[in-house]
Amino acid sequence: MSNYDVIIVGGGHNGLVAGSYLAKAGRRVVILEKKKAVGGAAVSEEFAPGFTASSCAGGAGYLSSKVVGDLGLKAHGLAIEPSEAVAFVPQSDGSQLTIWRDVDRTVAEIAKFSEADAKAYPGFLAAMRPMAEAVSGLLEITPPDLPEVSWSDFPSARTMAGPMRRLGRKNVSQFLKTLPMPVSDLLDEWFESDVLKGAISASAVKDISWGPRESGTAYTLLYNWALSNSGLFRSSGGMKGGMGAITQVLATAARSFGVEIQTDSPVSEILLENGVATGVGLAGGDKLNAKVIVSGVDPRTTFTELLNPSRLDLSVVRNLRNIKYRGSAARIHLALDSLPEFSALAGSADLSALEGAIQIAPNMMYIQRAYDCTKYGEYSPHPYLDIEIPTLSDPEMAPAGQHVMSITAKYVPYALRQGSWEGHREAVVDAVLSTLAEYAPNLRDSIIHKEVLLPPDLEERFGLPEGNGNHGEMSLDQFLHMRPLPGYAQYKAPVEGLFLCGAGAHPGGGVTGLPGHNAAREILKATR
Ligand SMILES: Cc1cc2nc3c(=O)[nH]c(=O)nc-3n(C[C@H](O)[C@H](O)[C@H](O)COP(=O)(O)OP(=O)(O)OC[C@H]3O[C@@H](n4cnc5c(N)ncnc54)[C@H](O)[C@@H]3O)c2cc1C
Repeated sequence: MSNYDVIIVGGGHNGLVAGSYLAKAGRRVVILEKKKAVGGAAVSEEFAPGFTASSCAGGAGYLSSKVVGDLGLKAHGLAIEPSEAVAFVPQSDGSQLTIWRDVDRTVAEIAKFSEADAKAYPGFLAAMRPMAEAVSGLLEITPPDLPEVSWSDFPSARTMAGPMRRLGRKNVSQFLKTLPMPVSDLLDEWFESDVLKGAISASAVKDISWGPRESGTAYTLLYNWALSNSGLFRSSGGMKGGMGAITQVLATAARSFGVEIQTDSPVSEILLENGVATGVGLAGGDKLNAKVIVSGVDPRTTFTELLNPSRLDLSVVRNLRNIKYRGSAARIHLALDSLPEFSALAGSADLSALEGAIQIAPNMMYIQRAYDCTKYGEYSPHPYLDIEIPTLSDPEMAPAGQHVMSITAKYVPYALRQGSWEGHREAVVDAVLSTLAEYAPNLRDSIIHKEVLLPPDLEERFGLPEGNGNHGEMSLDQFLHMRPLPGYAQYKAPVEGLFLCGAGAHPGGGVTGLPGHNAAREILKATR
């Protein structure tokens, strides 16, 4: 006889969120996490003596305000501080564009590059916001089971139509036109400055393997916009202690609802009885049973490694193999003995522009060219870099007077066209540091230590297949009823008694808590 109603495999932030909702509703829940600490891809770790970084995810501010409110996370210590600067985009000629939360301040910045674009920017925001709200309205729904719609799907089909109805006829047509567009085409319709287009399009591609000229990147811009805490196309700010501080708050909240969390507990198998999931086997040999098994692990691993795929329909197995993962970024942490000096801010005492993201993406064509390399299985010698310096807002992440710089470097493919990654690690670091030196010439001399996580490292260390942080590419064809698979987007697995709650389920990746929130709702409905 088991003590648990629900076993959750994986203590990533979504597992913690799902567990909290289920325990709050009276279910006895245990979370089994294979690593020594919970948090998954949202953790803070010491990478050099005295230096702590957000190992994978670095940008906070995407966590759903509903989840924050429902779980009382602020009472448990959640404090995400938004920064005024959203993105600082230095140029190699020593100029710079900063996107601020404050629209007027941004308009003045844009005017340095184009008066016409400065005038157009407020209109662009006003046109995009209703569309971002429409995407936002889709994030908390359970997608209908298309194309096999049954009566029970009608409520979710209606909910899906709700955000469209609110858009109004004219905007719906614009919305349907916009979603599949390349973000480059969308921005070309509004602006002339490639610098501004680079600043905005970087947000559209930072979490996918594509460049701004690829179809569907207007949708990824809207997805980020829908989740952002800035009212703009990307979030800004963070929490003291980094992303791990957020998942520690989630763990504290989960425990307060009665969730039991067992770390160092890798699940090796999901156990079935008569085709129904009834428990899990742990790598150490123990077995645990529960009425419901929930996996916060990515769908392919869940269904083909934790389950025996021979239990599944062949078409399901084929669809699982066809999920696109395609990690495309390396994560690099630098321990610095001093703050890097950006030429674009030389002589300025005000460094607040650096408190948001620093985007080394001087223009849109630069990002597209960086992407072109990965199409052919190569890494870019001039990568697009998305950077945080967390020590600007939390000096305790490094020894006094020293700094941490964390870089997400794109584009770096999971597999090289020729040969293995052996011998290429230093070349990637070199490309990143040479690129940065164009904007912050003193950087190289201030490096005390560096940690490099290539996509295969992210896979091995964080269990992210192909190094994709979102348990599957965040593309339009892997959204809504297609995430993770057509027919299984309702958080239910192809096996009775088994559910999914991680980023591989709708609405997808980012530290939002939404897949966990939505999954818990469906589990409660199914097990009333
Ligand atoms: C380089 C990088 C940068 C990113 N940047 C950002 C960003 O700036 N902002 C943002 O919001 N998001 C970002 N993301 C995405 C974000 O981190 C993820 O989408 C999110 O953390 C996924 O959470 P999850 O709970 O769904 O899954 P995970 O965090 O992957 O959690 C799954 C958990 O399951 C555990 N597990 C796996 N197998 C087993 C097993 N057999 N038994 C027990 N436990 C198991 C894992 O150890 C892990 O703890 C980034 C990701 C990466 C990789």
